[in-house]
Amino acid sequence: VLMSDLSERKATEARIESLSSVDQMTSLPNRYGFAKTLSTWLRDGTRGALLVLDMDQLARVNDAFGHDAGDYLLLQVSQRLRALALNNEAVGRIGGDQFGLMTPIAEPGLIESRAREILEKVAEPVSVGQADVVATASLGICLFPEDGTDPVTLLRNADAAMHQAKNDGMSQFRFFSRTMNQHLAERLRLESDLRWAIQRQELDLYFQPQVEISSGGIIGFESLLRWRHPELGMISPIRFIPVAEESRLILPIGAWVLEQACRTNKAWQDQGVGNWVVAVNLSAIQFHDGKLVGTVEQALKMSGLAPCWLELEITESVLMTDPERVVEVLDELKSLGVKLSIDDFGTGYSSLAYLKRFPIDKIKIDRSFVSDIHRDPNDAAIVRMVIGMAEELGHRVIAEGVETQEQADFLRNNRCDEIQGYLYSPPLPEAAIASYVAGHGEKIREQH
Ligand code: C2E
Ligand code: CA
Ligand code: CA
Repeated sequence: VLMSDLSERKATEARIESLSSVDQMTSLPNRYGFAKTLSTWLRDGTRGALLVLDMDQLARVNDAFGHDAGDYLLLQVSQRLRALALNNEAVGRIGGDQFGLMTPIAEPGLIESRAREILEKVAEPVSVGQADVVATASLGICLFPEDGTDPVTLLRNADAAMHQAKNDGMSQFRFFSRTMNQHLAERLRLESDLRWAIQRQELDLYFQPQVEISSGGIIGFESLLRWRHPELGMISPIRFIPVAEESRLILPIGAWVLEQACRTNKAWQDQGVGNWVVAVNLSAIQFHDGKLVGTVEQALKMSGLAPCWLELEITESVLMTDPERVVEVLDELKSLGVKLSIDDFGTGYSSLAYLKRFPIDKIKIDRSFVSDIHRDPNDAAIVRMVIGMAEELGHRVIAEGVETQEQADFLRNNRCDEIQGYLYSPPLPEAAIASYVAGHGEKIREQH
């Protein structure tokens, strides 16, 4: 009796063990099973490489053909990997659309050709119903023991390399490097610190004047976000906006910016400092969130600012992804009474057909064209063309990043309406605006 009890218990344990270490759908080892094998290899002192494969845009397949199709595709990929794996290699499904392969190949050149082979194989079309679907993947690679001596570290490092491959355009492989980990760690740190930045009052808006060329007068300010990090000091928006976007923290931060910009502008009006349009930058995430119109309405209501004194800057690239939908949102925003401008114009690929349909007021010529106006005849031609086109469509044009009188003269001679840039002023903290405005008024009076 005891014997049979014991063997039954052993069988049950074995079944539980296999349930917890094998993926049901593909019958490959799951993340746990895979990591267990990896730790055995490491304990035995095996040298080799860990490859982490992540499907690119599987969500698209799910959306277009349904989840069954997505599952079928994963199953196909798992079978291809299994077929491709050598006897001394191990494959596992380590995440929803992630596979791992460990190999005792330790020579980077050989690993590289293995990586190519895998990416090619995975990208072969799969027949889903009537359609042939091509699903690519991105691969991250790290070496052991060089890049880690335990499964957790190795999986994390291969993951960092895989993300790098995705960022570099997908459908390719990257080897892990230590700087990659530093970037990742920095990013994670920024993200977790950014979560508290609003409450801790570390965010601040700076304002950069926009000047009308014909009168020389200030007609508006662009608000630019600043983050005063308690330990790292001032952090440029170029660095933290992408982190805010990836974590979607840009939604609460963007709402804060909108309200803060409106409140500041209203205070200037109430205190008699001046009446200007204040421009606010919008991120693509805010634009596609579905709540933007409500957020803008709320900011206007809370501040008491009349809508005509608020301008929203939307980059050209945002406008050109899903333009049909964009026209709807823009029309809604426009009906609130706010002004709209296209930021970084010239860097994307605007279709003229859509440009006509966007209810915008202003085009901002990207500073990359302005900076080379006198060196690069192409840039000069582009600037002239944009101004001509804006005129045709009845929009105002502002050139950003104007640093020299030479550039300003070129823009005036080519009938640009407004300029913004270091020539007049860098972005200034709110407290510096009143005295800047007074000084600017002096200068204009002297000139006239
Ligand atoms: P942007 O919208 O193109 O803003 C203009 C940038 O050019 C600002 O950099 C400004 O300081 C800089 N600039 C102004 N005049 C000159 C000049 O004469 N020469 C040169 N070389 N640069 C000039 P900043 O403040 O670092 O902002 C960088 C970017 O961060 C902005 O580019 C914008 O895309 C983003 N950003 C800033 N604030 C916000 C915000 O509140 N929300 C969102 N979503 N993005 C923001
Ligand atoms: Ca801008
Ligand atoms: Ca810009």
